[in-house]
Formats: sequence, C-alpha cells, structure tokens
Amino acid sequence: MCNSWSKAVEVKNYDLFMDIDFDGLKFKGKVLIDIDTERDVALNSVGLEILNVSSGAKTFPFKHSGEELIASTGQFTGTLTIDYLSAIPNSLAGIYRAPYNHTHVISTHFEAAQARRMLPCIDRPDVKAEFKVTVRIDKRLDSISNMPIDSVIDEGHKKVVTFKRTPKMSTYLLYLGIGKFDERRDKFGETDVIVATIPGKAKLGDFALDEAKKAIEFFESYYGIPYGLPKLHMIAVPEFAMGAMENWGAITFRESALLIDSGSSMRARKRVSEVVIHELAHQWFGDLVTMKWWDDIWLNESFATFMAFKVIDSIHPKWKVWDDFLRSETSGAGSRDALKNTHPVEVHVNSPDEIEQIFDDISYGKGASILRMIEAYIGKDAFQSGVQQYLTKYVYANATGDDLWNTLEEASGHQVKKVMTTWIRQPGHPVVTVSLNREKLKLRQERFLLSGDFEPDTWPIPVNMEVNGKPMSFLLDKEEMTIDAGNITSLRVNLDRTGFYLVHYAGLEEIVWRSNLTAIDRWGMITDSFAFLLSNTMTFKDYMILLTRYSGETEILPASEVSDQIALLHLLLPSKMAELSKKFHRAQLELLQKKTDENSIILRGTVASRLVFVDDDYADELAKRFKEYGRVEPDMKQAVALAYGRRTRDFKGLVKAYRNTSSDEDKARLLNAMTAMPDEGLLIRALDFTVSGEVKRQDVRTAILAAVTKPNAQNVLWIWLKANFEKLREIYGGTGILSGTFLAMIPILGIGRASELENFFTEHSIPEAKVGITAGLEKMLVYDRLVSNIQRSN
Ligand SMILES: [Zn+2]
Repeated sequence: MCNSWSKAVEVKNYDLFMDIDFDGLKFKGKVLIDIDTERDVALNSVGLEILNVSSGAKTFPFKHSGEELIASTGQFTGTLTIDYLSAIPNSLAGIYRAPYNHTHVISTHFEAAQARRMLPCIDRPDVKAEFKVTVRIDKRLDSISNMPIDSVIDEGHKKVVTFKRTPKMSTYLLYLGIGKFDERRDKFGETDVIVATIPGKAKLGDFALDEAKKAIEFFESYYGIPYGLPKLHMIAVPEFAMGAMENWGAITFRESALLIDSGSSMRARKRVSEVVIHELAHQWFGDLVTMKWWDDIWLNESFATFMAFKVIDSIHPKWKVWDDFLRSETSGAGSRDALKNTHPVEVHVNSPDEIEQIFDDISYGKGASILRMIEAYIGKDAFQSGVQQYLTKYVYANATGDDLWNTLEEASGHQVKKVMTTWIRQPGHPVVTVSLNREKLKLRQERFLLSGDFEPDTWPIPVNMEVNGKPMSFLLDKEEMTIDAGNITSLRVNLDRTGFYLVHYAGLEEIVWRSNLTAIDRWGMITDSFAFLLSNTMTFKDYMILLTRYSGETEILPASEVSDQIALLHLLLPSKMAELSKKFHRAQLELLQKKTDENSIILRGTVASRLVFVDDDYADELAKRFKEYGRVEPDMKQAVALAYGRRTRDFKGLVKAYRNTSSDEDKARLLNAMTAMPDEGLLIRALDFTVSGEVKRQDVRTAILAAVTKPNAQNVLWIWLKANFEKLREIYGGTGILSGTFLAMIPILGIGRASELENFFTEHSIPEAKVGITAGLEKMLVYDRLVSNIQRSN
C-alpha cells in the first residue's frame, strides 16, 4: 500500500459483476471502473488472477506484482474494464468462506486493506466512489449487499441479482454476503431494519433489532442527520474474526455479538447492545464522513466507542455503563499506554500489517477517553454542536482530526486544538502528584511509565477537582502549579475520572479518605495504586494496607476492580495469593447473593468463577449443578462449567456439551471450562481440540486467552503455543488479531521464563504481531519484577 500517492486520481464508480460458483468456492469477476488519472492506472489487487484489462476495443498491457496492478494506459479518463478470476478461501479477511453445519455462507470483511482481495480497486479510504454490484448465483441462494436489491433476472437454475447503486463511499465499507439467510424485519420510519442469520437463528435477533431502532433514533437526533440508506442489515456471520464491522447498510457481526437467546447472560446482553450501537454510530461517523488515511483510524474508533456508551446510558440508565467505560476503555487503555512501547493515538502507518495492528486499546480506549475528557472540558452542548458541524461539512467526504478540533473550537470558544493536538500526538499520559506545603497545594505532572522511570513531559490537562467541597476547574499546562488552599479538610482530584491521568496523593491519603468519596473516586484510588505497585513506586505492603479498605466493598465499580487485581496477583503468584483471593471473593459472593440488579448479577458470576480456583468446597458444590446446566441462571453458567472442568476432569463430558449446543456464547464458556483441567495431559487435549477444525477459527483465540487465565496452565500452554505457532498465524492471517493476543499472553506466560520468551520472539519474526509482541515483552518484565519483589518481601 502506498500512502504517498498524490490525489491525482479520481474514481467515480465501480460497476462490479461476479459470477459465483458457490459450491466450487470461486468466481469470475468483471469490474468497470470509471476513472480519471494523470498517469498509468495503478490499482490494488491481491490473490486475483487478472485476465484482461481493456477500454472499449482497446486492450492494455498490465503488470501485476505484490499488491499492485498497473495498466499501461498513460493519462486516462473513461471506463476501464478488468476481467479476472478468484478463489474464495477459508480465511477471515477479504471475500471468504464462513462454514457452518457442513455448508457455508460466503461473506466479506474488507477493513482495513482487503477489498483488493475481491476486486481490483484503489483501496484507500479517501478515494471514495459509488458501487453498483451485480451477482450471478444459484437460484436457491440469497444475497445481501450494502444497498437493497434493484432487480432479479431468472436464468434457469441461476439468477442475476443487481443491487441499487451505493452513495459515494470508501472501498473498505463494501459488503457482499451469499448463502441461505433467515431474516427478521422491522422498520424505523421508512428504513428497513433487518437481522439476517443462518437458517433457524433469526428470531434470536429481536433484542439487537430493538437496540438498533433506539440507537438510530438517538443518532438522528444527536447528529442532526437522518440515517442515509433505505435499509440496514445486521448480519450474523458464522465465522468472523472481529466483534463486528460497520459496512454501510450491511453491518456484520460474529453471532455472539448479535444474537441473544434465553440462556444468554446479562453480560452478553450488555455486550450485544454495545457492539450494535458502536457499529450504528459508524454509519455516520466513519461511513458518511471518513478519515483521510489510517493514521486517523482512532477518530473513527474512539468516536464510535464513546458514542456507544452515551447512547446505552440514555436507553439503559440502570446499567451504569460509564462505570464500564472507566474499566474497559480508560483503565484498559491506560495500562497499555503506560508502556514505553506505546504509540501516539494518531500514528503514522503505511503497510497493511501496520494498519491492522493499530485497531488496539489506544485507538479505541485512549481515544474515547480523550473525547470524554474534551467533552467534559467544553460542555456537552458545545461538543454536540461541533460534531454536527463537522458531519455536515464533510458529508460523503473525508476529514482529519484537525477538522474536528476546528469545529469543536468554533462551537465552544475553547482551545480545543491546542489541548487535543498534544493528547493525540504525544505518546503516553501523565501522573499528577498532589502534595501540600503550608496551606499551598502543589500539582506536578510527569509521564507515567510502568517501568517506574517517570519522564519529564507535560500535557494540557483539564483538571476538575474539589477542595473542601468546593469545585475547581483549570488547565494544568505546565510541569507544576500551586494553589492557595487554606486549611484542607477534604480533597478529590479528577472528578468522575474524566481526565486521562493518574493521581498520586503524596502524604494526603488520610485527608482524601475522610472526604466524601464516590464509588468512582474509590475506584480511581485503587486503580492508580495498582499501577503504582506495578511501576515499583508503591510497596506491596502499602498496597495491601490500602486493599483492606476494600474488603467489604459494596459498590460494583470498585469491587470489580479489586476482584480483577486480586485475580491477576493470584495468576502471578498462585500459592501466595490463593488465601487472599478466597477471602475477598467469599465475602463478595455473600454481599452479592441477594442483589438483583443487572451489574450485581454480572459481578456475582465473575466472583463465582474466581472462587472456583481457590475454594475446592465451593467448586465441588458448583460442579454438581453441571448436570442441570441448561437450567442454571445464565450469568452463573460459566462458573458452573469451570467448576465441573476443574473438579471432575470430565473432558469428554465438556466436549459432549460443546457439541450439543448451537450457541456461540455457550461454546465459549465450555472451551473456557476445558482449559480449567488441572491435569497437563487433559489441558493439551483441550488446546488441541481448539485447532482440531471443530472449533470456529474465530474462537481459537478465545480459548487460548482463557487458558492464560488459569494459574496452572502456563507451562503446558507455552509448550503447546510453540508447537502450534504457525497454525495460529495461518488462521489469523491478514487480521491483526495475533498482535492483541500476544500482548495479552506474553506478560503472564513469561513469568519465570522471561529470557526464554525474549529469545523465542527474537528468533521468530512475525510482522503482523510485532506491535503486540514488543509491548507484551515489556509488560512481562514489569510483572516479573513485581513477582520477585513480592517473593522477597517476606
Ligand atoms: Zn468500530
């Protein structure tokens, strides 16, 4: 991929015809490209066998190498016709076969640079064009694309389906699905809202349909622009690498991110809601207005992430999803961003491998947290009006972050550009140390790093704090500043945690604890303290003292966080931390037993799952319930399955249950349970099962990541991983999935064998996962140091 092309090329239209051999898994393609260029036509094309390039009666010589197809046209204005052939592989990117029940659907996934696997095209987000898609398929099959069907012509046992022309859009948003689909239809105003699934599953789409309609209503009002297409499909694809993809008018999902049945957990419902609404946010932000180049992919992703929480909070206020936002987005991105091997939110990328790897916590979570910070800084109304202006101005076109800052600045009168430019372009984030000297409060900022070597660096930080109950807001844009505070009796900094920074209260902890702390404040205290423990700037002893303040925590947000921290410590030091984990989780289970709100139900499931690994009596009790697994309360099913796997070692029983369920959510629980086998031989069988062909390729990662969370599995997992390394690369080729997977695995796997991992990853070069591996190795050293510190501490 070449980012340095001048924009001396314009495509008006692609007329695509595909004659599809559904069973033979191949197609004949013909694309007519209405193009205007100053030199030879240069297109992207991978894996396509180009037969002929012509215009009218004239044929052009061409060269096809790497990902580029160059036709010797010279300066060219007109319609270029390309005839080609292609196979439809078992991959997860481009046009691919998604198998189920001994048959398949054909589906596509093009983001970021994969449209070139279906048609020769200028595969860049800023070269937008209209698409007219026509397919010739078996009469018995259905087909879905971005637009509704325009015409169907019978041809014996085949039919030719032509879709209406799309509006101007980027190549990565094009979609085509062929197969047998069941549909569930509804309407929002004039727009058809449709869930499509493999046969027999469409009724499981009702919850998603409902969420989608509410979201469209919200977005039309918030953006001030109606949904642009005559219909919206939400398609459950049986094999899908990501959670979902926002193809304009034809959003694709993995089944578990769209479908809800009677056995689905509350956790799954929240997840479906979030994914559906995230993709809907993109229909405007991303699809209608698109980033110029992938350097700004964060703008798409962070915006959709941020907006999804806004919408869910409005339609399900009881879910308190901003609490989830803090845990999954702000804190999740913070720990990634505290590595030296982080990257700025806006990052320069060129090759497809590089592009695929930046769909990460920084682009989603950090970007979204910074948008939340800027909204808090300029106010909700100004933020909305700036976004409206931006969308209206760049409709059907492309824009950059700067363009958004300009409209936000105009709408608010605040220095948005100055603040945002630093936050977006500077890697890392600050810790603000607050200290008191003779009634003067001092705030000092520096770059927080998990390595512990904090570096001098400054960000323009919109600070919101409360001193003696009085709120204060200002921009801290230098290294330090001092405030006359008088006699301080209460203090809270970074209110609602809208700021993307940590707070270190130096010698002020007791005053802070006497303040009227909210659940978010308490969450912030323990979250930051764990980061200080990891960075070796807080002792384990001090951390443990703080932890005792949370032993009977009754608020979901801090209780969930403490549970996560204890689970991680238990993973790093199983024998040493088992008792702590047992005590905390037993107390939590007791507290949560009688609660009936959604978030308590979810946390109770998590707590039970963790208790299974430290409390044999409890695990034995739970394991007994596996025989009535179908009737177990959905959010407790995971704990029951884990207990069964761990205590009975009945691998065959779990496999049988796996084969008997058609729900992907359930299958994931059972895979998780298989990796809870305490016996090394059984664990190997569990891991082998995941790549036996019986488990969906999309779920192999799920299973491996589940294995990483089992305290006793690390040895076996590492041996297995080395042996199955190339297989994993093959499964996830072209997706960028392995980058995130290795980042999650390496820090845990590396405990006690850090140099072995370093050597292994030096010897095995994996360009498609380089970003995650490098970061993972750095984090591994952080965990390794913590483990030795704790071991030495008594
Ligand atoms: Zn997205």
